[in-house]
Amino acid sequence: TETRTTGAHGGAIGMHGIKKWFGNFQAVNDVSLEIRSNEFFTLLGPSGCGKTTLLRMIAGFELPTEGQVLLDGTDISRLLPNQRPVNTVFQNYALFPHLTVAENIGFGLKMLGKPKSEIDSVVGDMLKLVHLDGRGNNPVTQLSGGQQQRVALARALAPRPKVLLLDEPLSALDLKLRKSMQVELKRLQTETGITFVFVTHDQEEALTMSDRIAVMSTGTVRQIGSPWDIYDRPSERFVADFIGETNFLEADVVSVSGDKARVRLSSGAEISATYPEGVTPQGKVTIVIRPEHARLGPPGSGVLEGAIHTIVYLGTDNHFHVTIDDGKTFTVRQQNANSAPCGFSVGERISVAINDDVAQILRD
Ligand code: ATP
Repeated sequence: TETRTTGAHGGAIGMHGIKKWFGNFQAVNDVSLEIRSNEFFTLLGPSGCGKTTLLRMIAGFELPTEGQVLLDGTDISRLLPNQRPVNTVFQNYALFPHLTVAENIGFGLKMLGKPKSEIDSVVGDMLKLVHLDGRGNNPVTQLSGGQQQRVALARALAPRPKVLLLDEPLSALDLKLRKSMQVELKRLQTETGITFVFVTHDQEEALTMSDRIAVMSTGTVRQIGSPWDIYDRPSERFVADFIGETNFLEADVVSVSGDKARVRLSSGAEISATYPEGVTPQGKVTIVIRPEHARLGPPGSGVLEGAIHTIVYLGTDNHFHVTIDDGKTFTVRQQNANSAPCGFSVGERISVAINDDVAQILRD
């Protein structure tokens, strides 16, 4: 498109056996991952899991204690930040308050000694790209928070990096603005073809924008996959629990065939479940079922029997907390599709049915 800002493809990043120690504290413990060219890749995890440290090692602000960072196959581990075709957008976008919008966007190019005509042309493209045409001469301080964040993005994109690193860039914005900036960021990434590496602790943000997500915990990568893989096929309890609400059930493996296993629930009913690569399901296992993948029905109609403990009305849907007959709690989420009362009452005996192909066995 006319706003495409890079002829070159986005860079591919390889991180191989990365370890990072701060004194005697290990922040990153043997991380290896491949980020593909033109990908929107997200590092997702709770505070302190090491995602910012990984990002800073791609940028060159930190050096790995062990391991290599490759860009398009070339080892860049020891290069200074300004020697890497990589740029970073930070949470506190750190614009220069005494400069105009255009001067902020062109700042990096000016530092690189680019001629004025080239700077003007790139800044013009960038203003269009972030939908701030006509605002170039405004002082940045006159812009709203969301507009300032777009200036910060334009400034980082202007030197046409091969990779753009984004460290929680939306967390200072209010919810509504954050949602619209998520869509905007995804569009910018697609239009520029630049590889984006995005850091967040917000699972919904990660699911919304990413081509692939690496879920991290205490310095390690727990699972890498598409949003669907991560949400619908979590390989372990931490990932299932971190990404949204979920039910864990104990079950016994009855048989395995192809990529499916038959498992027996505490009620005696059997269902089919998928399992992670490299796992041979046997004996007692834990399975995951998302609340929206189950539904309520009259006693005897499903695979788990119990009684409704609580009903939470959320506008778009209802959450039913069910006490199943083995004493555990199971949550069912049903869409409020008919704009009518849910038709169930607290204390009522019900049965929980589980949709086909939704149960997932976890790695031990
Ligand atoms: P957050 O979202 O809170 O920034 P994070 O997942 O990005 O979390 P990091 O910032 O990468 O986590 O930090 C990982 C761990 O390393 C934390 O326990 C942090 O305190 C520690 N750490 C990070 N930088 C340093 C440093 N320069 N010196 C000492 N410890 C550090």
